[in-house]
Amino acid sequence: MSDCIFCKIVAGEIPCKKVYEDEEFFAFHDINPIARVHFMIVPKHHIASLLECDSGYDEEMLGRLLLLAPKLAKEHGLQGGFKTAINTGKDGGQVVFHLHVHVYGGGKLSHLD
Ligand code: AMP
Ligand code: ZN
Repeated sequence: MSDCIFCKIVAGEIPCKKVYEDEEFFAFHDINPIARVHFMIVPKHHIASLLECDSGYDEEMLGRLLLLAPKLAKEHGLQGGFKTAINTGKDGGQVVFHLHVHVYGGGKLSHLD
């Protein structure tokens, strides 16, 4: 997607604070963190949101994506736990339409944070 900001980050066309990269996924710190640690994990290939995920094709990718969250969270000092958020669609508060999982924590977060 030529006008997708997260595709441009994955391609190295927009700078970011990279957290992790493998063949399938890319993770980087949120530019506007809401916790001491706040990064996002995205699939490298463009998919707009969970609404566009396919139950057959994307099932394993979504499993691998979620399993990266605790691995990377622990590497960033969040052994005691963390929050995840996947904003989906305009009514779900999604602003960037490239699927991403927010991972954040550090300090105590309430159930509302
Ligand atoms: P949402 O789509 O609601 O999950 O929010 C998108 C998130 O992307 C927000 O938390 C932004 O702070 C973050 N964001 C937007 N642009 C960038 C960027 N260039 N680098 C890092 N994070 C970004
Ligand atoms: Zn994209």
